[in-house]
Amino acid sequence: MIKKLIGRVLSGKLFNPRSQSGAITLEFKSHSVSREQISACALQVTDTLQSKGFSAYVVGGAVRDLLLKRTPKDYDVATNATPEQVHGLFRRSRIIGRRFQIVHVMSGRETVEVSTFRAAHDAPGSESGVDKARTDEHGRILRDNVFGNQQQDATRRDLTINALFYDPSTLQLHDFHGGVEDLKAQRLRLIGDPSQRYREDPVRMLRVVRFAAALNFQIDPATRKPIRELSGLLSNVPAARLFDEMLKMLLSGHAVQTVKRLREEGLHGGLLPLLDVILEQPLGEKFVMMALENTDERIRANKGVSPGFLFSTLLWHEVLKAWRRIQAQGLSNIPALYQAMEEVLQKQSDQLAIPRRLIGDMKELWALQPRFLQRNGRRPFRLLELPRFRAGYDFMLLRCQSGELDMELADWWTQFQEVEASEREEMLLPDAIPKKRRRRKRSTGAVQTVEAAEKV
Ligand code: ATP
Ligand code: MG
Repeated sequence: MIKKLIGRVLSGKLFNPRSQSGAITLEFKSHSVSREQISACALQVTDTLQSKGFSAYVVGGAVRDLLLKRTPKDYDVATNATPEQVHGLFRRSRIIGRRFQIVHVMSGRETVEVSTFRAAHDAPGSESGVDKARTDEHGRILRDNVFGNQQQDATRRDLTINALFYDPSTLQLHDFHGGVEDLKAQRLRLIGDPSQRYREDPVRMLRVVRFAAALNFQIDPATRKPIRELSGLLSNVPAARLFDEMLKMLLSGHAVQTVKRLREEGLHGGLLPLLDVILEQPLGEKFVMMALENTDERIRANKGVSPGFLFSTLLWHEVLKAWRRIQAQGLSNIPALYQAMEEVLQKQSDQLAIPRRLIGDMKELWALQPRFLQRNGRRPFRLLELPRFRAGYDFMLLRCQSGELDMELADWWTQFQEVEASEREEMLLPDAIPKKRRRRKRSTGAVQTVEAAEKV
């Protein structure tokens, strides 16, 4: 019995070298994260800062992912140097951010985010902070540039598994909040009082769901419970920040799981009007889920994904609905489509600020769609020549696969691209109806059968 106890103490199971701050320090042998696993740019940042007498650690997602034997997406470094001091040490760096300032340090093609240790806005001693945190009437933190020490910095982070500090020169891992235990238990646990932490920053609710989906972890009951009740707070978050988080969720490689979890936690309603409405319609849901599956597959295969394409798929069924309605009111096919696009984008923009350049891509993709229905004369040839043809084709393929259009249309276009130029001529559908009559017979239904649309 005693022998067993001593064995467990020596193996570190019972004895954890807890410092005064409450941190547990783990040596290399108990975590196995080596210096070689850290990216060149992150090492350059921590080494340089440490050589100037500052402390510097790899933190956040990279440490979490390395402990989980996953490849980190990017690196974050935390230090006691101020943003100005960091900026002064690296030629290729810039200070960014309003809510809190961080420094981007670039090396080769990599960018490392360096943040100065900060304290929670109500942390003891933070009264003396130079730039105090301010909150809105819901408790949301508007600015939190209150500098602090390493322990305070750990406490202001969101999840215990995101509050681990790795020192690449000593290979020590500092764990202030039981993050290593939670990683082992595959559990997401917020640091501090969950309700208060969500009020301070409602985006944390989305982060919890994103990590739950991406890591396939359980959400600790106390962390999970307030989410449903507080979900409305997301409407106070600036639209641009919501868009950033939305993009992270959709491009995580686990978009399907994330959207499912968002619905389970009651977070999709109201928060993202686009998902809200679309997921309620069977055809819309099928289309969106297929688009997300595609995106996940491409990301996992390290292929590029276009956010414009993704967002145009998310909103497509809204556009379709508006298009039909406006046509029924008497506007003709194409002008009705353009009006529908504007309407949907406008409705969306209050909540989620989709950047202008993406809006351009989205409109282009939508506007291409009616052209896929035209398979006579020179029109298919002109469409094929367009730089955006491929994206438009992929989009049309999804419409067919989801059951919105006949699969025959997709097969035709697939074949049209593959065959020799001479064979393309043979594939064209006949100009069956004389031009004048065709114009008069213009259909008023936005979603037409392929045959009807070809006669337009
Ligand atoms: P990934 O980069 O893989 O998406 P991450 O955890 O690194 O995950 P980042 O957004 O890069 O996420 O943030 C880096 C770290 O900053 C987090 O690990 C966490 O410690 C802290 N952090 C980020 N956002 C918040 C937040 N809203 N509230 C508290 N801490 C946060
Ligand atoms: Mg990160």
